[in-house]
Amino acid sequence: MKRHGHYCKVCGEYKANEKFSGKGHAAHICKACAKLPPEEKAEQMALRRLESLPPRLSKADIAWLKNRVKDRRPAVRQMAEIIYAIRFQK
Ligand SMILES: [Zn+2]
Repeated sequence: MKRHGHYCKVCGEYKANEKFSGKGHAAHICKACAKLPPEEKAEQMALRRLESLPPRLSKADIAWLKNRVKDRRPAVRQMAEIIYAIRFQK
């Protein structure tokens, strides 16, 4: 499948270029997500990163994932726990 448009790293969707402002384009944040409160934006970005971790984790990825297991945001912590268990408790 060919993906058109531009990836938003907050909502994780591919959207047409016109859904991004000039600044949002560079930051990979669509206009809709740019309006979110910073807390929520950060949480969504953490979830998207958890979903899209590469098959081989770098040291930085592993350190980041371990920190997310202790994250104070429940949604982030829960997903991190699942991903950590899949990756490290075989
Ligand atoms: Zn978005």
